[in-house]
Amino acid sequence: GIRFYSAGIEIHEQTLVAVKPDGVQRRLVGEIIQRFEKRGFQLMGLKLVQPSRDVLLKHYHDLQEKPFYSALIQYMSSGPIILMVWEGCDVVRISRMMVGDTDPALAQPGTVRGDLCVHISRNAIHASDSVEVAKKEISLWFHRNELVEWESCTIKNIYNV
Ligand code: UDP
Ligand code: MG
Repeated sequence: GIRFYSAGIEIHEQTLVAVKPDGVQRRLVGEIIQRFEKRGFQLMGLKLVQPSRDVLLKHYHDLQEKPFYSALIQYMSSGPIILMVWEGCDVVRISRMMVGDTDPALAQPGTVRGDLCVHISRNAIHASDSVEVAKKEISLWFHRNELVEWESCTIKNIYNV
C-alpha cells in the first residue's frame, strides 16, 4: 500500500483495540468507536467475535503467572468482544492515554476507563501497549484479508502531509 512519510511522521502506525465482554454488554461499543474516530484515527478493521480460549491464552500469554490470570481468561471468554485496528501517528501511545490506567479507580476522567468503568476486573477495553505488541496482537486476531487499506480524504486536515 501507499505509505506517507512527511517530516518524520509515520501516519500508518497501527494498534489493536478491543471492547471487552463487559463493554459489549453495557452497550459501550458506539461510544468507544466514536472516541477513536473523533480523535482522528482511521479504522482499518472491525469485527464482533466470541473469542476462543485458545486465542485468549496467546493474547494474555505474558500474564500467565499473575494471580488474576484464570479470572481474566474466564471474564474475556464470557461473551462477545469487539476487535478493531486503528491507524494513525503515534496511535499506540495515544490510545493507551485514551484508555487510561488499568485500574479504573485510578484512571483519569476523560479516559475510557476513567469515564465508563469502576473496577479493575471489568475495565471495558484493551489497547496494545507497544508497537511490537500491536503487530503481534493484530496478526493474532485478524487475517490479512480482514484488514482494509484505504486512504482517508481527511488526512490533510489531521496531519501536515
Ligand atoms: N487485570 C485484573 N487485575 C489486575 C490487573 C489486571 O483483572 O490486578 C486484568 C484487566 O482486565 C487488565 C488485564 O488484566 O486490563 C491485562 O492486564 P494489563 O496489566 O496488561 O493491563 P492493561 O494493559 O489492560 O491496562
Ligand atoms: Mg496490557
